[in-house]
Amino acid sequence: MITLQDLSVHYGKKSVLRDVNLSVQEGESVAVVGESGAGKSTLAKVVLGFVKATGGTYSFNGIDVSRLKGREMREWRYASQAVLQNPTASLNPRVRVDTSITEPLTARARMSKRKKRQKAEELLDLVGLDAGLATRYPTQLSGGQRQRVVIARAIGADPELLLLDEPVSALDASARAQVLNILSDLRQERAVTTLYITHDLATVGYLCERVVVLYAGEVMEDLPIEALYTGPDNPYTRELRKASLEPTEVETDNDGVRASATGGITPASSNGCPFAGQCPIAQEICFQEKPKLKTLSNGWRSRCHFAGEPSKDTMLGTDSKA
Ligand code: SF4
Repeated sequence: MITLQDLSVHYGKKSVLRDVNLSVQEGESVAVVGESGAGKSTLAKVVLGFVKATGGTYSFNGIDVSRLKGREMREWRYASQAVLQNPTASLNPRVRVDTSITEPLTARARMSKRKKRQKAEELLDLVGLDAGLATRYPTQLSGGQRQRVVIARAIGADPELLLLDEPVSALDASARAQVLNILSDLRQERAVTTLYITHDLATVGYLCERVVVLYAGEVMEDLPIEALYTGPDNPYTRELRKASLEPTEVETDNDGVRASATGGITPASSNGCPFAGQCPIAQEICFQEKPKLKTLSNGWRSRCHFAGEPSKDTMLGTDSKA
């Protein structure tokens, strides 16, 4: 089980994550969504042990990951496999596919060439690729094939945690659908604890049971996946969902990821709600007092002064709240 408790990260004076509280149960699949600048990538780096939290704790099955060093940290890196946005950067172009796929296994135990090849072919089959690709190099594969090789390598390590950080955003539409289907099938078969980091609300339903919404480094809402589509509680989640359903001209960042769904992240003063500057129903109190992340009677969590209040639906011009 993953537990983030009051987790904060500052880069110099810049606060990137603030008091994030989040838990993911064993075998659960949770999406962390938000716009560019919300803090998603930093959260992924903390979870993988690449960035140390400035405050708070992060533990996996009760072990404080920030305290791991040397061999223990290396073991953690094998136990927590990642599939990142750019498969080309994840694979060494000079290393053959079979060697890449079996690298986490050979780092732990010796394997004969025959065994290595056999294992690579099994894993290629698992992600719907021809066994003949085992002897190819990454440059001889398409982007979608490369990402499937990265998934095969991650799954082959039999991880305790699978972190997916925008795994399909760099792929074309057809490769994206194939990779999502493979990840969804693997989820059904293996029930690995999964954290899916993405800006793309349209894809989270394929892989996740729960969604955590980040804005300006803070959790705004934590809700079941169905509720994301039927009617979130939080005004920010509603705006994010609305923007994802209304394709318009969008800015993208250097990686081609949608940079802004709601007009960009412009946090209010440190005293107020982080979304106050753009919230369609902001009231005076929103600029003066910071709302707490409240647990609602249905178990969702929402950071809003009016969380769970039916009157908020009228203000937003909708009565579709679950
Ligand atoms: S606290 Fe105010 S500004 Fe923040 S989401 Fe709720 S209504 Fe909007």
